[in-house]
Amino acid sequence: TGHFGEKAENNTKSTPVEEKKVAGPIQIVQANEHNFELNATALEEVLLQKHVKDLNVVVVSVAGAFRKGKSFLLDFMLRYMHNRDKDSWIGGNDEPLTGFTWRGGCERETTGIQVWSEVFVVEKPDGDKVAVLLVDTQGAFDSQSTIKDSATVFALSTMTSSVQVYNLSSNIQEDDLQHLQLFTEYGRLAMEEVSEKPFQSLMFLIRDWCFPYEFCYGMKGGNEFLDKRLQVKHNQHEELQNVRNHIQHCFSNINCFLLPHPGLKVATNPKFDGRLRDIDEDFKKELAQLVPLLLAPSQLVEKEIGGNKVTCKDLLEYFKAYIKIYQG
Ligand code: GDP
Ligand code: MG
Repeated sequence: TGHFGEKAENNTKSTPVEEKKVAGPIQIVQANEHNFELNATALEEVLLQKHVKDLNVVVVSVAGAFRKGKSFLLDFMLRYMHNRDKDSWIGGNDEPLTGFTWRGGCERETTGIQVWSEVFVVEKPDGDKVAVLLVDTQGAFDSQSTIKDSATVFALSTMTSSVQVYNLSSNIQEDDLQHLQLFTEYGRLAMEEVSEKPFQSLMFLIRDWCFPYEFCYGMKGGNEFLDKRLQVKHNQHEELQNVRNHIQHCFSNINCFLLPHPGLKVATNPKFDGRLRDIDEDFKKELAQLVPLLLAPSQLVEKEIGGNKVTCKDLLEYFKAYIKIYQG
């Protein structure tokens, strides 16, 4: 896998000078022939870095099917984290986007979980320092066996994240909700204590939203749309009611954000390299709202498991424990 070096960013800001490592995506969980493996050594290198290992961790994860713009979004999240102290974080018009994305079509897409090697230390408004970990999650949804793998990946990442962004294309279909029910059921069964709401935040992120005149772009329109979509009605088939109740009961916090289409260059031009000049204005406007909603210091929520905040060091142990459940 040669893509790490090529587009990886040179991180000079927050790693100590003596080990000027190039930051990049690290594959920590991988499905091989439906067997799940944790790359514990790689995860240790990320989570046991001296300056973060004892800090409470905030885990922001993006999950969903392949080729729906997850890594593209994560690259803007990285930009935000790198440019936090500047007036404008979103970057210059002709600055290619770097980070999780890579070019070239030969790379086989792996079902699994990647983390960004650089863990960001952020001071929250109350003065507490937290460690922010960005997670890219990928699944395939095209056959029964790949759906089962995706359920495992989604469950693992939901169990270990403070915010799970469920990345969907154009709408929330009934089978997106069914998948979510299956995925969270996988996770819920694996967790020991049966607390009322096993997971923290879920954000439905709808890409290429086409009905801004019905529900406007952003979170306000998104939440109105979601309320309607998750509404339980008496005349609904029982199965539809169950899915909705299940999802409401699994997360302490559920939101939805509607993003416009980014424009044809982003969607179809093979030479597109992420520069802002090629992205539609509406998209950039909404992106500028979305990213701080997820990552601004005041928005950061520490990961909790069983009611306790979790440090980076603890998170490593949870990963080791949780992966075992799915290896059996
Ligand atoms: P991932 O597999 O979900 O991580 O998807 P990528 O981030 O690699 O993006 C896949 C393709 O979709 C790339 O060609 C992107 O330029 C394009 N893309 C990114 N965001 C969007 C979006 O919101 N809508 C559409 N239609 N395409 C997008
Ligand atoms: Mg990707």
